[in-house]
Amino acid sequence: MHVYSIPLRTRFRGITVREGLLLAGPAGWGEFCPFEDYDDEVSARWLATAVEAAEVGWPEPVRERIPINCTVPVIPAERAYELVAASGCGTAKVKVADHPDSLPEDLERLAAVRDALGPDGKIRVDANAVWDVDTAVRWIRAMATAAGGLEYVEQPCRSIEELALVRRRVDVRIAADESIRRAADPLRVEVRAAADVAVIKCTPLGGVRQALRVAEATGLPCVVSSALESSVGLAAQLALAGALPELDFACGLGTLSLFTGDVTRESLRPVDGFLPVPRVAPRPDPDLLATYAAAPDRVQHWTRRYERVRAVLNRPR
Ligand SMILES: [Mg+2]
Repeated sequence: MHVYSIPLRTRFRGITVREGLLLAGPAGWGEFCPFEDYDDEVSARWLATAVEAAEVGWPEPVRERIPINCTVPVIPAERAYELVAASGCGTAKVKVADHPDSLPEDLERLAAVRDALGPDGKIRVDANAVWDVDTAVRWIRAMATAAGGLEYVEQPCRSIEELALVRRRVDVRIAADESIRRAADPLRVEVRAAADVAVIKCTPLGGVRQALRVAEATGLPCVVSSALESSVGLAAQLALAGALPELDFACGLGTLSLFTGDVTRESLRPVDGFLPVPRVAPRPDPDLLATYAAAPDRVQHWTRRYERVRAVLNRPR
């Protein structure tokens, strides 16, 4: 087992350094990387994903490569333009609503992203559940205008009821993310009346097979999106995107652009807007593991966390 610690280029989801534990098994390498604020019960699903990769492997894919969107964090408009133009991606996902007065900067960033993508590019925004219904309706309309059209808005509000209300009042598709992933039982979430698209991530859902079941249960077209993994964990997400029966949207798996480094030589960074579907995760490189080795106290923290969560996962249920 190895614990990595990789600085991010910009603050994302409130963090500046990404940490995770890599483990090897007969089927390959897996990554266990629940965020710090997740308890052991929630983290058990993350560990199930790592264990599937290391011990079982993934189902056969039905496609060879996955269209990828670039991810635009909360950065100034000029930098957003450069990032999107350099990405080679035809779809951009823009983080918005980072703070209560963000609207003017968000609109500026969206206009810059449209300039970089051109008229045929697709722009989606992610509000991470921060708006109430009226705020969502007002901002979505303003953002759709500034962006010259939106592909969809991801999780504008917290509850499924609120998503349904917003969906009736705007001419933009709604995608459900946290509503599915944070549900007590993601297999039983009723999102079809509240959303047009389901965001699915195998890393927090308990593996590729479990994520395929959740995707089917939503009854919606799916987008696979990253949980900010290194290339080892991203490989599992690509295996999921490769195994979905249908895939009509670019996937949010270009997130290594947010990292200053990686643990594998073969780094899963999109080329011309696509990533190949791997059969196994790329092998961590000893030199890179040394470069990005976590400090001893963090290794101890992650080792203890792994042992506690492993006990939760092994508990008969
Ligand atoms: Mg999201």
